[in-house]
Amino acid sequence: MGLKNKYIAVIGAGESGVGAALLAQKLGAEVFVSDYGSIKENYKKELEENSISFEENGHSLHKIEKANEVIKSPGIPQDSAVIQHLKKTNIPLISEIEFASRYSQAKTICITGSNGKTTTTMLVYHIFQKAGYNVGFGGNIGKSFARQLLVSDCDYYILELSSFQLDDLQEFKADISIILNITPDHLDRYEYNMDLYVDSKLRIINNQTKDDWLIYNADDSLIKSALEKKSPNLNIATFSLTDEQQVGGHINKEQLIINIKDQFTMSIHDLALKGKHNTQNSLAAGIAARIVEIRKDIVRQSLEDFVNVEHRLEFVAKINGVEFINDSKATNINSTWFALESMEKPTVWIVGGVDKGNDYNELLSLVDEKVKAIICLGENNDKIKEAFQSKVETLVEARDAVEAVAYAYRLARKDDSVLLSPACASFDLFESYEDRGNQFKQAVRML
Ligand code: ADP
Repeated sequence: MGLKNKYIAVIGAGESGVGAALLAQKLGAEVFVSDYGSIKENYKKELEENSISFEENGHSLHKIEKANEVIKSPGIPQDSAVIQHLKKTNIPLISEIEFASRYSQAKTICITGSNGKTTTTMLVYHIFQKAGYNVGFGGNIGKSFARQLLVSDCDYYILELSSFQLDDLQEFKADISIILNITPDHLDRYEYNMDLYVDSKLRIINNQTKDDWLIYNADDSLIKSALEKKSPNLNIATFSLTDEQQVGGHINKEQLIINIKDQFTMSIHDLALKGKHNTQNSLAAGIAARIVEIRKDIVRQSLEDFVNVEHRLEFVAKINGVEFINDSKATNINSTWFALESMEKPTVWIVGGVDKGNDYNELLSLVDEKVKAIICLGENNDKIKEAFQSKVETLVEARDAVEAVAYAYRLARKDDSVLLSPACASFDLFESYEDRGNQFKQAVRML
């Protein structure tokens, strides 16, 4: 199914858009890429090298409207002028994931949730790789799905899907879908309406049939009640940190137990990923692997030797008995909740940045229990000061990573931990969460 004699417009020139443009061109289409903002140099170069025409800093509607089909990048809001305009026309508008999926025969394991998507995606990928599958990963991380297909197809793709990506799916179908958790995030894109955000996450099961699987977190009441309303007709496996699941997995007396086909067990102490949230991720990944009947010894070994992605509860160094942990990717309250929850030593906590509507009260009891000092690392720290000033002995403000680490080292004693888990986005003082994490790690290494 080539695209000869077709004219395809792509809105947005990030990883998804450029991947889609390259794939469309490879399939024979004439392609035009349009971005409302400026396009990153590396992507511009790639488009130029492949003789794909593009524009930046604005949309030429007359050029876009000529297209047989328009591919939308997930970052473009539904209510943007260009999308609103296109919706009034008859031009088919599809997402990059949807577009790419037409050209892949691979089975897909699709992972969504408010937190833990990347970790779980990489963990599932690791298990499938060890099991010898020809497997790729992508979506919201790494290379776009479309770009993966430029070279060759795989047996399996493990796809991380954000709610923005799910919003745009129409006919796409996952073979196995995983919903890790649903907590408030990105509500600005959902009219501050939690129901709309939940609906968006649940779109991951759209088009799944009775031969497909859904794996979800049985401890998450939001997912449960939303699914009850839908009563989908597919195979369901659940996981829980506390209660036995007939089909699925749970934790009992420090054993991770998965009941799919027959029983799989291993000690939670052997899991590579630490912390309760990560135990949930290990359960979800293990269940997916057992559904595909990957051998138990391979699942066990993979859950034991997985090395987590950077900036997620990443151990940095121990200096004079003080442990430094980089959790810069924690950009909302829920992920920071799990980070604090997993702290076993008195903790100096570095927090702050761009607040996306946080309710810090949710962290009060954990702060009471675990945190000895707070270092604010944001431009405006008023909400954090207001929430915690009376809860800890010391609360100071730092303007950059070096200052924050210096304060932390001064405040910590031997056998304490220093945790960077900001619960906020990074764009006030840093370029990205990666930049924030890297600056933190560098400052620690210079102590
Ligand atoms: P995502 O891709 O959904 O943003 P990541 O795997 O990158 O998720 O992790 C983001 C943050 O959430 C990190 O701080 C990580 O430690 C934390 N986290 C990971 N898994 C979970 C989970 N299951 N529940 C809550 N927080 C989690």
